[in-house]
Amino acid sequence: MRLRLLFCFCLVCTWLGPLSNHRPLQGRSQALSPAQSSVRNVDLLIRDGIVLTMDSDFHEFQPGFVAVDGNRIVALGPMARLGKYKASQTINASGKIVMPGLVNTHTHAPMTLFRGLGGDSPLMDWLRQYIFPAEAKNVTPDLVKWGTQLACYEMIQSGTTTFVDMYYFEDQVATEARAAGMRAIVGETILDMPAPDNKTPEEALTYTQRFIERWRRDPLITPAVAPHASYTCSKKTLLESQKLANQFQVPLITHLSETEDEVKDILQKYGKTPAAYLDSLGFLQDSLIAAHCVWITDEEISLLKKHNVGVSHNPESNMKLASGVAPLKKFLDAGIPVGLGTDGAASNNNLDMLEAIDTMAKLHKVWLKDPTFMPAKEALRIATLGGAAAVDRSRDLGSLEVGKLADIILVRATDAPAIPMYDVYGQLVYSLKGCSVDTSIINGKIVMQGRSVLTINLEMLRKNVARLQRQVSESLRK
Ligand SMILES: [Zn+2]
Repeated sequence: MRLRLLFCFCLVCTWLGPLSNHRPLQGRSQALSPAQSSVRNVDLLIRDGIVLTMDSDFHEFQPGFVAVDGNRIVALGPMARLGKYKASQTINASGKIVMPGLVNTHTHAPMTLFRGLGGDSPLMDWLRQYIFPAEAKNVTPDLVKWGTQLACYEMIQSGTTTFVDMYYFEDQVATEARAAGMRAIVGETILDMPAPDNKTPEEALTYTQRFIERWRRDPLITPAVAPHASYTCSKKTLLESQKLANQFQVPLITHLSETEDEVKDILQKYGKTPAAYLDSLGFLQDSLIAAHCVWITDEEISLLKKHNVGVSHNPESNMKLASGVAPLKKFLDAGIPVGLGTDGAASNNNLDMLEAIDTMAKLHKVWLKDPTFMPAKEALRIATLGGAAAVDRSRDLGSLEVGKLADIILVRATDAPAIPMYDVYGQLVYSLKGCSVDTSIINGKIVMQGRSVLTINLEMLRKNVARLQRQVSESLRK
């Protein structure tokens, strides 16, 4: 395998050379395909699909193919240039859109077990009457295990291949994501108040260091450090979290300026708005993923840009909790790497990224009173290559390109909402939902085919979710 891979990459270099500067190719022959006569061995060949590469030039091939060897894409292009492949597995993608897997840049996977709890309440009532008591009484490794498994099942079925998580018992989150075959950036939440797993920030930091040491060489799991927010973490907790993240060169994740009250609180406490306060601590850096950034000033946007902070935009959660509308256009104009997130299912209420893309595009059109803002292609880019850039992984994720990791989804282009198809990007963004995702390949492995998730036992999952729902309901009655 190793020798074969090296051989493939040599060819890849040869093929890639002429590609770097050319215009989008549609149905034309191009420089990616191998010599027509030589037979090439690969592990997986996806053929005859509508291939949307989502690379920076939006190359597309209709119909096209993608060849995968090991966990990498080794060739792609129009069918006319397929050449001769010997693949151990071939997927006929006729009638399907072949595109990069979606990157969910912010969620709390185990909170799927609190989906719908206390819905339609004001934020503080929702937190104090439902979420905090439910968490205090129920968050155990058992709940985290089944909540994560449920989240992974839903995410795989709706086209997400990479997610960024922050919660408690993250070792359990990592274990479940790994077993489900999902790629995840997983951060243990650190805060000054007692959490379900660690009772002090010191305990949380010790837990996080062990967690990083255990997972940092894993091919699917990237451990991270996740101080919750500047209103729940002291200066000391924030800086020690940052120090730990930098020591091991892992991502740093936090919530930033989600609500107007948070901004008032930090302004009163420290005399600065949240991002300016974090900047004064030296906390802003390029490995930071900042979730929400709703209430943020133009000066703070410049600070995020200056330090190349990745922003996770969560429009559905921000709308449901009435937090506000993040200044997405300003982020994009400033050149800040922005990805899309669902946030936890407790405040969304699902993890369907295709639905979130639709919401994002429409929300900002109406907010700016400009239907030309956020065309479908751009909306889809934010959920793929944009998300990969926001989590500092655009070198190997977010688009279908030779040499990148093989995280690929196939979406049915024959479902009723997909036809007639004048514009494939518009159809994906405004018409199709996660339920049209047919196949998911993560790190070169098929994890769902024909909508059957191959890595999770659904019957067992349903049984345990029902048991935990009874437990959560009873705990809130006491
Ligand atoms: Zn969150």
